Amino acid sequence: MTARIIDGKAIAAELRARVAAEVRRLRAGHALEPGLAVVLVGENPASAVYVRSKAKQTQEAGMRSFDHRLPETISQSDLLALVAQLNADPAVHGILVQLPLPQQIDSQKVLNAVDPAKDVDGFHPVNAGRLATGVPALTPCTPLGCIMLAKTVHASLAGMEAVVIGRSNIVGKPLIQLLLAENATVTVAHSKTRDLPAVTRRADIVFAAVGKPEMVRGDWIQPGATVIDVGINRVAGADGKSRIVGDVAFAEAVEVAGAITPVPGGVGPMTIACLLVNTLRAACAIRGLPAPAL
Ligand code: NAP
Repeated sequence: MTARIIDGKAIAAELRARVAAEVRRLRAGHALEPGLAVVLVGENPASAVYVRSKAKQTQEAGMRSFDHRLPETISQSDLLALVAQLNADPAVHGILVQLPLPQQIDSQKVLNAVDPAKDVDGFHPVNAGRLATGVPALTPCTPLGCIMLAKTVHASLAGMEAVVIGRSNIVGKPLIQLLLAENATVTVAHSKTRDLPAVTRRADIVFAAVGKPEMVRGDWIQPGATVIDVGINRVAGADGKSRIVGDVAFAEAVEVAGAITPVPGGVGPMTIACLLVNTLRAACAIRGLPAPAL
């Protein structure tokens, strides 16, 4: 059996088109122009690429994009002052501080300083707590994208055995909460889990968010299961050039799974699309408008 490939690139493009249509409606009906501020500290090349794509896709969706580039040497107090300024700016509905931050900065302190109403990354403890207690929240973008991709295969995740490999604050933990909200039966695996292949084999749906290239092998997958691969790992190819692979050994898993996300072109494109969704939701909530139907 060869799995159905879940085309994250196409699904993300459709989502961005729906966001753009909502933005046009808000501008025409409510004179509301959602705005996203992205703060980049230093010269990390991967972060710079992400920030450029975020700005481009924000503008393509018809939203305002505010780019703040700060030197690597910035002090904590100067960075906190910028966050305070963005919190107070009525044109800004979403604030994203690109991680990682340099050593002299206490990242958690900076994330905690973002107004939870504008916290489009969903990393503020208030939003994490709201998600965990089942109250509407701004939800981290990558896990949100994972759920949307899973729901292109399964109309309902209720009662499904879901295994999440990884328990980070930005992917694994919020994903667990979203799966519980979908009424899945959730198992969380991590670096101390015993017999991970056996745990993974139980899953109707596997989410791999580990950061280890091709760790999940084909014989870890239950035949017909759905596999959502969050991993982004740069490895050296046979030709000496580097390439990106996921946390799942795709060539093996595609022969066993029922449906699978590729890397690249799976979860990755959904992350920025969900950032746009969150910015739209934040703008509506701040203005007192109902949440957009997307
Ligand atoms: P992270 O903070 O490093 O967390 C990795 C998790 O994997 C931890 O919970 C760790 O367990 C667990 N783990 C490590 N080795 C393991 C092993 N051998 N067996 C089982 N579990 C193991 O990583 P992250 O930020 O969540 O990111 C995970 C992956 O997703 C990375 O490849 C990252 O690049 C990618 N990512 C992609 C997107 C996207 O847009 N597609 C966004 C974010 C991240 P412990 O807790 O026990 O240490």
